[in-house]
Amino acid sequence: METKEFNPFKMAQTQFDGVAKKLNLDEGSSDLLRNALREFHFSIPVRMDDGTHKVFRGFRVQHNDARGPSKGGIRFHPQETEDTVRALAMWMTWKCAVVDIPLGGGKGGVICDPHNLSMAEQEQICRGWARQMAKNVGPLNDVPAPDVMTSAQHMLWMLDEFEVIQGAKYPGFITGKPVGMGGSLGRTEATGYGLIYTVREALKEMNIDIKQTTASVQGFGNVAQFAIELYNEYGGKVVAVSCWDQNDQTSYTFKKNEGIKLAELRSVTDKFGGINKTKAEELGYEILDANMWIEQEVDILLPCAIENQVNGETIKNIKDSVKLIGEGANGPTTPEADAVIKEKGIFLIPDFLANAGGVTCSYFEQVQCNMNYYWEKKEVLEKLDTKMTHAFKAVSDLSRKRKEYMRDAAYIIAISRVAKACRDRGWV
Ligand code: GLU
Repeated sequence: METKEFNPFKMAQTQFDGVAKKLNLDEGSSDLLRNALREFHFSIPVRMDDGTHKVFRGFRVQHNDARGPSKGGIRFHPQETEDTVRALAMWMTWKCAVVDIPLGGGKGGVICDPHNLSMAEQEQICRGWARQMAKNVGPLNDVPAPDVMTSAQHMLWMLDEFEVIQGAKYPGFITGKPVGMGGSLGRTEATGYGLIYTVREALKEMNIDIKQTTASVQGFGNVAQFAIELYNEYGGKVVAVSCWDQNDQTSYTFKKNEGIKLAELRSVTDKFGGINKTKAEELGYEILDANMWIEQEVDILLPCAIENQVNGETIKNIKDSVKLIGEGANGPTTPEADAVIKEKGIFLIPDFLANAGGVTCSYFEQVQCNMNYYWEKKEVLEKLDTKMTHAFKAVSDLSRKRKEYMRDAAYIIAISRVAKACRDRGWV
């Protein structure tokens, strides 16, 4: 989230500028790519359950569509800002490019807190968002998806409103739909699993047996839970999870030295990924301060929450045991922390590569919608693994050959692809 000291869009632009310089990108291309092509800001009036009216602010940023329709999620968050959405839209462009799927980048948001809204009120926000954006989104120009605090149900309400407006069925308008309503099997697991496919490949390159590793995870939402699931399946042990308590909304680190148990922790977690601290304590979890997740004596850190979590301050307490950081979240690491990671020689799997599994599966969902023929889960996950592994190897090869930091290597591949598409179209 944006704070006085931290602006995610400035960070995204700084990262871009550094690589644009390395690539000797011409001024026209730089100017085009460091900003969004289009932005929409609008109001969504809602009749609340108590009969009063409330107006919510909504956004959609279409950063770039040279390689295909804009693609990216819609977030519901009380601290949503224009600059956060701008940064996230830009990262979506690089994400789709680095895994080489024919899509551009976009992101949307609504300033609201679903914790304090009934399902009927949330439905109105979704329908209002679709009404405001109906002329400027669609399977051929911009395809939304779930993100922080939005789910398959939210997507279905938006789809329904869009189809009523269009007077026809457009299952490809939105992804992350419920299975059986145009959704793809494996979409829920995709981001977390995708992260672990890249972690698996990185460990192979480092000659480390995944079964001998331990990890600490920030977050316990959709990405974190499925990352832990697959990492456990591969034999890894998660010793700490940092997450907010569902009652006091304060974050804590939940620790169990013998390894956290996913099913048990899930049983005390609400649908927003908030853990019940009291119940966790009863289950034998040690409750530590929020930032303690980064101070654990582990091999792997998986920041799977939000932006600005691995920063100049928190990185100071990172242990020498850490060999790998896999960024499940978007923009979790600031440039100051990046400098420390580089200096320590920790292997980094950068966000827009590490968490590209979600959008890759969204792309598979679009393909299935277009065919009106749906694949088995096994087939979806195999295709996802192939795509993620291939993208990871391309980035890590480049990083090794050119002695580039992994984040820069991923940027070099992504920006080159998007800049080429813009040039080929004659835009710059
Ligand atoms: N919200 C996810 C992301 O940040 C998925 C986007 C999508 O599926 O379009 O990558």
